[in-house]
Amino acid sequence: MLHMKNLSKVYRTHMIETHALRGFEIHVKQGEFVTVTGPSGSGKTTFLNIAGLLEDFTGGEYFLDGVNVTGMNDNARTRLRNEKLGFIFQGFNLIPDLNLFDNVDVPLRYRGFAAKERKERIEDALAQVGLASRMKHYPAELSGGQQQRVAIARALAGSPRLLLADEPTGNLDTQMARSVMELLEEINARGTTILMVTHDPELALRSQRNVHIMDGQVSDLVRKTPSLVVEHQHVETNLHIA
Ligand code: ADP
Repeated sequence: MLHMKNLSKVYRTHMIETHALRGFEIHVKQGEFVTVTGPSGSGKTTFLNIAGLLEDFTGGEYFLDGVNVTGMNDNARTRLRNEKLGFIFQGFNLIPDLNLFDNVDVPLRYRGFAAKERKERIEDALAQVGLASRMKHYPAELSGGQQQRVAIARALAGSPRLLLADEPTGNLDTQMARSVMELLEEINARGTTILMVTHDPELALRSQRNVHIMDGQVSDLVRKTPSLVVEHQHVETNLHIA
């Protein structure tokens, strides 16, 4: 679904060069739920922006759902982004003057769907996040967790192949964060691949796979399946004895 090979990103400002990503390698398979963690400044946002075709990269190659994105022009990238990707952000990014129905409608209008199809998509997406009965409500009438559900519905309405989430639970209390995570897990179980940046160790731990970024590189890949965790501990114990 997502494959980056020896990717690099250099920011050049005046005399300063910042290597935000270097030798960056990641392969996310169709249907995976991957969390991305790492200290501030390690390159998480840069990675997510490049993955989301919002930002170009300096070197290496990037394949999205089998399409080589390397060197693609802006128009083609925008088309691919609209067709394949959905985004969720920490701050929900809902439009306060629009009700839930119209908020979910915004990206669908951009894509030029007919009114009837838009209506079906919006109703289906809001039903998937448990807000079918609130379509005429405005964002300010909802809790933070519900607002994030609307943002998830907005992303789902476009039927994305890959959902990119940047700290989607960062503004929520623990209970709401868990409930949003459960919703994302349900969406993933129905087939959407998810890539989520988080600072929350609990959420990183419960995801299928956690990718840790340090200094612009993937530092470790730990599969959180129980057998492998036990195996990992076993190896560590042996090393300790040795
Ligand atoms: P994170 O999301 O993990 O906090 P970022 O991807 O935002 O990390 O940043 C990685 C590095 O790239 C940091 O050193 C940051 O200062 C630098 N950086 C990010 N964006 C820019 C930019 N637009 N111009 C210059 N440097 C940037």
